[in-house]
Amino acid sequence: MTDGVAAHGIEKSFGSRRVLAGADLVVPEGTMTAVLGPSGCGKTTLLRIIAGFTDPDAGTVRIAGQLVAGGPSPVPVHRRRVGLMPQEGALFPHLSVGGNVAFGMPRGERVEHWLDVVGLEGLADARPHEISGGQQQRVALARALAAQPRVLLLDEPFAALDTGLRTRVREDIATILRDTATTSILVTHDQTEALSLADSVALLIDGSVAQHGSPAELYQRPATLAAARFVGATIEVAGTADAGVVRTALGPLPAVLPVADGPAIVVLRPQQLRLRPEGVPAQVTACRFYGPDTAVDLVLADGTAVRMRTPGQVDVTPGDSVTIEVDGQVLAYPSPSGRQGVALGEAGG
Ligand code: ATP
Repeated sequence: MTDGVAAHGIEKSFGSRRVLAGADLVVPEGTMTAVLGPSGCGKTTLLRIIAGFTDPDAGTVRIAGQLVAGGPSPVPVHRRRVGLMPQEGALFPHLSVGGNVAFGMPRGERVEHWLDVVGLEGLADARPHEISGGQQQRVALARALAAQPRVLLLDEPFAALDTGLRTRVREDIATILRDTATTSILVTHDQTEALSLADSVALLIDGSVAQHGSPAELYQRPATLAAARFVGATIEVAGTADAGVVRTALGPLPAVLPVADGPAIVVLRPQQLRLRPEGVPAQVTACRFYGPDTAVDLVLADGTAVRMRTPGQVDVTPGDSVTIEVDGQVLAYPSPSGRQGVALGEAGG
C-alpha cells in the first residue's frame, strides 16, 4: 500500500518550549489514522505542519510520495492539496449549502454529487442556519471532499456537537470517508472516538508517537503505563512479577506482555473484575448504578482500593463482604517508583 502521508522525525519548538520531539506518522493511502493524545501534546501543531501552515524545525513530510516539507523548498499550503475539516461553525454563513460546497470545487464537478455522497441531496438551496449542527458538519465534509484533497485533516471536528448527536455524526462521517477511500488524519483527545472510528491510532505523548497500531492493539497491548492509562479506564494494583506472573492482592495474575521480574504495576480494565464465589475477599465501600452497568468500589484485605464495573444492576450495599476474581490476562509494567504495596485504585478515563 502507498503512503498517503509520511511524516518523519518532526521537531518543533516555540521559543524554549519543545512541542514536537521527533514525531513519526505514516498514514496508508485510503485509510484513517487518529492522532490521540492529551491536551497540549502537539496534535494540532503536527496537523498544521502536514497542512503547511507551520514549518517544522527538522524532519520531512511527504504527501502521496511528494516531499512537501523538509526539502530544499517547502511546498506552500495551496499546492499541497490538503483538505481541512475544523470544528462546527466553519461554514460561510452568507452562502447557501450548495455555495459552500462549490467553494474551491474543481470545474466540471457537480455540487449535487457531493451532497449525495454526504446524504444531503436536495438541500443545496438551504442556508447554514436552517440546518442542524450534524447537517452542517456534513456540508463541511462535502465542501472538503469536493476540493478532492490528497489527504483530509480533521481537527477535533465533533467537539462542538452535543453528546447525543456526536456519536451518530462521527460514525456517519467515518463511513463516508471509508466509502470514498479518503486518506485522513483525525486529531482527538477522546479515546472512544479514536478507537471506534480510525483504522489505526497514533498515541502522541510529550511530542513523540509513543505507539501506533490498530485500535485493538492500542487498547489491549499498550506499550507503556502512560499509554494504558490514556486509552481507557484502568484499575491499578501493585505486585511482584516473576516469570510472567504477577503476585498481587488479587492473587497471581498472568501478564499479557513480557514484564521484567520485580516490582510491577498491574493494570486491569474495570470490566475484568467479576464478583465470583471462589474469588478473593473484598469489602464493598460504595455502589453506583449507571444504567448499562454498576460501579462497585471495593477494598481488599491489604487495603488496596479498586473499582469494578459490572453489567446491569448488582445487589450489594456498602459494608457487604464479597469475593472477586480477575477475568483473563492482565497488563503489567515495571513499577515506576520501584515501591510495592501501594494502593493505586482507578485512574484514567
Ligand atoms: P489541544 O488538544 O489542547 O488542542 P494539542 O495537542 O493540539 O492540544 P497544540 O495545539 O499542538 O497541542 O499545542 C502544543 C503546545 O504548543 C501548547 O503548549 C501550545 O501553547 C504551544 N503552541 C502551539 N502553537 C504555538 C504558537 N504558534 N506559538 C507559541 N506556542 C504555541
